Amino acid sequence: MLKTFKKGGIHVPEYKLTAEKPIVDIPAPREVVVTFSQHIGAMAVCDVKPGDHVVKGQIIAKANGVVSANIHTPISGKVKTIGKWKTAFGYPCDTVTIVASDEDVQYDAEHGFEPRTEEEIKALTPEDIKEIVADAGVVGLGGATFPTKVKLCPPPGMHADILIINGAECEPFLTNDHALMLACPDEIIEGVKYIMRATGVNRAVIGVEDNKRDAICNLEKHLEGESGISVMPLKTKYPQGGEKQLIKAVTGKEVPNGALPISVGAIVQNVGTAYAIYRAVKLREPLISRILTVSGKHVQSPGNFRVFLGTPLKTVIEAAGGIPEDTGKIILGGPMMGKAIVSIDAPTIKGVSGVVLIPEDEARRTQENPCIRCGACVEACPMGLEPYMLMPLTENGEWEMLNEHGVRNCIECGCCAYSCPSNRPLLDFIRLGKFKVNEMMRKKS
Ligand code: SF4
Ligand code: SF4
Repeated sequence: MLKTFKKGGIHVPEYKLTAEKPIVDIPAPREVVVTFSQHIGAMAVCDVKPGDHVVKGQIIAKANGVVSANIHTPISGKVKTIGKWKTAFGYPCDTVTIVASDEDVQYDAEHGFEPRTEEEIKALTPEDIKEIVADAGVVGLGGATFPTKVKLCPPPGMHADILIINGAECEPFLTNDHALMLACPDEIIEGVKYIMRATGVNRAVIGVEDNKRDAICNLEKHLEGESGISVMPLKTKYPQGGEKQLIKAVTGKEVPNGALPISVGAIVQNVGTAYAIYRAVKLREPLISRILTVSGKHVQSPGNFRVFLGTPLKTVIEAAGGIPEDTGKIILGGPMMGKAIVSIDAPTIKGVSGVVLIPEDEARRTQENPCIRCGACVEACPMGLEPYMLMPLTENGEWEMLNEHGVRNCIECGCCAYSCPSNRPLLDFIRLGKFKVNEMMRKKS
């Protein structure tokens, strides 16, 4: 029987329209806007000034502390401006704009990164690998954008005995991980080996939902003769790709509320992150591009694309045929956990796994009705919370009570809102409540 998590979860229509689509490269634009906050943690600190000439892959903003990440330029060119730019969600963020001349474009076409030789790779120590990952600005590419080096360095006294690679990709519409598992199995496996060496873990499991049989077979074929790494097909159930849900499915262990995966001996990395680690270690390439899906029921040419970070979202959407006239909403990420954006002029950043366009008739909010205490949201919640309680507590600003009801354990999966027969905007309120409680706890500490 296929493994999965036990508590809550839902079955959602998949709409994996791009499951068969190979990865298409979107050429680097002449002008990129690179933001300094593309990760969870402190914003990186600018390391260039207007007029500077930068070379593709050069650090342009340095990590600011342990939980932060370096930012690199994806193109060679001249620093045009440094200043505030609005993110896709409308918040101002420090950015640098870089413009390439004809000579820069030619330089990038002729000069790549110089791969490490097998001897050089063999000579790397675990610390070397961690430093390369940190230098390369690698962050979790499943959407969380947590700086990867931190995850590779368990707190003192803690040790991982299993590495779980997240290939579940349970969000409807998104297929970027699926496409990557089909196109680059050897590179992902190599990345997994580097993570194993860095962490001293000798068992790795790649968890993939069984709606991606071709990816499972492909990885298994490429793992023949390898020891210590296996693929585990998992039941297709949302949110199978949630970190705690994945650990439960693969190991049977429950990560306690408020604890990290390492507390049950697990490290979890996304397949895209393993691939980015491969590129950093083997190819000496920092994180300057990523794979993402552009999709939607009415999108002309939905697909999976390799995009340089800093590319405007409108360029990415144009690669899929542009914005259809009847579009009501554009979401970054999948429709369950993603958020609606307010600007397509904003640049692509490390955490963008997909752009999903929703037709107008499906984007309209349905009539919200009073809670009928049916308990569907409680049954659906994979974290054992009581969403019907969390919403009114947020509305009334009862932050202490909200904290006692465990709002900080919410993984923002949206199962509650999806299941509610009264169409209550549970997730919107719970997200706000979680933000407020986290703010309150920060002030207290
Ligand atoms: S969004 Fe939060 S409260 Fe709602 S089902 Fe998911 S974990 Fe539970
Ligand atoms: S699913 Fe909706 S109506 Fe049912 S208990 Fe939860 S909030 Fe109330």
